[in-house]
Amino acid sequence: MPIFRFLIIGLAVWLAIALIRRLYLKPRAGAPRPLEHYVETVACRHCRVHVPREQALVQGKHFYCCPQHRDTRRVTKDRQNRNRKA
Ligand SMILES: [Zn+2]
Repeated sequence: MPIFRFLIIGLAVWLAIALIRRLYLKPRAGAPRPLEHYVETVACRHCRVHVPREQALVQGKHFYCCPQHRDTRRVTKDRQNRNRKA
């Protein structure tokens, strides 16, 4: 039965090639990549721009993208408090 021998050898060669391709070739362009460089971001309370959490300015439980936006909130809040008292 030489035909069965050829079929088995052919199957073994095909399996070996498939395994080698899977192990050594790069994933296809459309394949999703793992999140190696994930950076957690937070939204600025003033302008809603997302910035990396490490770079965000924190005041209380809120985040801001820059000192100007943090201070703008502070000034607005102070004005509201003054208007309430007056
Ligand atoms: Zn901002």
